Amino acid sequence: MANVVLENISRRYNTTQAIEGINFEVPDGEFWVLVGPSGCGKSTILRTIAGLETATVGNIYINNRLVNDIPARKRDVAMVFQNYALYPHLSVAENLAFGLKMRGVDAIKTQERIQQVAQSLSIEHLLNRKPKQLSGGQQQRVALGRAIAREPQVFLLDEPLSNLDAQLRDDTRAELKQLHQRLGITTIYVTHDQVEAMTLADKIVILDQGKIQQIGEPQQVYSHPKNRRVATFLGNPPMNILPMTYGNSLFWISNQSLTCPPAIREKLQLQEGQQFDLGIRPEHIQLTLSSEKVNDLPQDMWAFEPVPLNVEVNVIEPLGRETLVRAQILTASPTQNPYSIQFQVPIQERIHPGDRLTVKLDLNQIFIFDSTTGQTLYP
Ligand code: ADP
Repeated sequence: MANVVLENISRRYNTTQAIEGINFEVPDGEFWVLVGPSGCGKSTILRTIAGLETATVGNIYINNRLVNDIPARKRDVAMVFQNYALYPHLSVAENLAFGLKMRGVDAIKTQERIQQVAQSLSIEHLLNRKPKQLSGGQQQRVALGRAIAREPQVFLLDEPLSNLDAQLRDDTRAELKQLHQRLGITTIYVTHDQVEAMTLADKIVILDQGKIQQIGEPQQVYSHPKNRRVATFLGNPPMNILPMTYGNSLFWISNQSLTCPPAIREKLQLQEGQQFDLGIRPEHIQLTLSSEKVNDLPQDMWAFEPVPLNVEVNVIEPLGRETLVRAQILTASPTQNPYSIQFQVPIQERIHPGDRLTVKLDLNQIFIFDSTTGQTLYP
């Protein structure tokens, strides 16, 4: 086992700066996930750690040893890719044994190791089969087993679950987590899937356009995103971003207004006319009343309604227990670009496209972002 340190790593391909100024240290035995949209540089970082790419600038240390000039096969890392290539003419047992044979491990020890690995991945009953006699999930497990059998100091996994169907992906994800808890091998895992990142990681590294946006424990990053990119990347459905203007102690979106909580006013010292982005997660938006019900109520009822926002439903997506509603915020002018907003309602609510609804934002849960830089200003 080992720690992995990246010191100011950059990689350029001709005119493309794939990654820039990457610094982090994965402590011995931890499970870190590199996550971000496609093309943000995740695989380049992983391949550079493995020794399959060379950094243009920077140093990599594995187990406190500088490995910049050490070839991949001598770095004692095992990498598993999305397209796991098993040897088709070899049995599962022979596939598992392959790396050990190459390293001159004796037959008895190899046999013991294969049994152990097969047991830990529940593939003992498959040892005599050829890869083509296995399902996708089983093949992926064998690929993982082949990496584990080598007992590397570091595991590098590049989107290892993305070829699996949804159910199997969930199951294998849970197995991977258990496996890590049992073996404790330092692991760096690449994915574009924020659910995988949130569920697997001790720490996540969020990347965008080749740069680190934030590093932290999943829940901490989710609750305290450093900027709008991180905030909108983590969470499904994603955080809503609503451009607002401050005026008269209110937040204005077109002709609708929300009360600005005093804590925000004091912390940010907002100026009249100042513009910013307000962020709110779908789980912090609640349906108050539909327009039909609104019409039945006496007008003065509105005096008690704290911060309603009127929206018109565009699309509904039933998700089982809840329905995802995609709506647009009603604005004064029909020519103004509509702002969209997403939230979930209990499945019992009968909502249809075209309905006008009133929703309530939980103002204790909002984020304020600088509309130009995207930096989090509040909380
Ligand atoms: P990710 O894994 O996050 O999808 P990659 O690390 O594969 O991203 O790629 C990061 C950037 O570097 C992308 O713009 C990609 O096109 C570019 N890139 C990656 N590999 C090469 C290469 N061999 N030659 C040129 N550009 C590359």
